[in-house]
Amino acid sequence: TVKAQGRGRFLFFQPEMERRHLERSILENELRKAVQQELFYLEYQPKKNLCTGAIFGMEALVRWGHPELGTVSPGKFIPVAEETGLIIPIGEWVLREGCKQAKAWQDQGYKSLTLSVNMSVQQFTQNLPAKIQEILNDTGLEPRWLELEVTESIFADLAYSLKILKEIRALGVHISIDDFGTGYSSFSYIKHLPVDTLKIDASFTQDIHENDESQAIVKSILEVAKTLNIGVVAEGIERQEQLSALSQDGCFQGQGFLFSKPLSKEKFEKYLGSKE
Ligand code: C2E
Ligand code: MG
Ligand code: MG
Ligand code: MG
Repeated sequence: TVKAQGRGRFLFFQPEMERRHLERSILENELRKAVQQELFYLEYQPKKNLCTGAIFGMEALVRWGHPELGTVSPGKFIPVAEETGLIIPIGEWVLREGCKQAKAWQDQGYKSLTLSVNMSVQQFTQNLPAKIQEILNDTGLEPRWLELEVTESIFADLAYSLKILKEIRALGVHISIDDFGTGYSSFSYIKHLPVDTLKIDASFTQDIHENDESQAIVKSILEVAKTLNIGVVAEGIERQEQLSALSQDGCFQGQGFLFSKPLSKEKFEKYLGSKE
């Protein structure tokens, strides 16, 4: 009967919930320790000009090196960091480390590399613009070489986000909308926002060569971006067919496994060297 099923479900889910709760609180504790001990590192994924093949920048992606668990991916720990507020110290570490590294590469002669850093909406505090300024001063990276990747979740509180975004842009830092097309924003927002780049979400890139809807969406993103004088980067390019379709549609910047996975700083440096 339905009632028996209901009861069965309840009994079944109870220990499962406890287990998850436990897992979650262990993760939270471990994450707190990781913040204190700075057990994070960055990988860098190249961003390419699809016409010339030149690398114009890199996206910094955070990893957590856990002493026993090994590498924990951001998909696993960023949500916990966001819920616990630990995203503030972690995000600050990422920004500082990324800026320091970008400056070091520029000093090595790679003069025009843009560093992209992912930002959670929770990092959008009153204090963020001043913090960014401080990190730029400390590391010596010029603001125009820094780009923040924010998702459309930023639009949930549009007036507030707009104020912070404008302050950040006034510093000379660039703004990019990540995973564009998947959130609840519409093109009309873009008109009002201080945005430099749209990143076409991987879900469109990945079937653009075989799905008319994805291709139509990509085309309209490119068209709007062109009219508004905004850049476009396609993410998640894995196959030659996807690259061809994107190029045909007029998308000239991209990143993805077809070119390179995210790389350790040593490997990224080698990758840069091999492209000279
Ligand atoms: P994202 O910013 O959209 O980054 C793209 C993700 O797709 C990365 O996963 C990257 O490794 C992966 N990727 C790149 N090219 C390809 C491809 O061709 N195919 C496939 N299947 N995947 C590809 P990752 O590094 O696991 O990061 C996942 C997400 O975690 C990021 O999505 C971003 O939202 C978040 N994240 C990463 N680092 C940070 C950070 O420092 N701060 C914050 N707040 N979030 C971060
Ligand atoms: Mg990103
Ligand atoms: Mg993305
Ligand atoms: Mg994504």
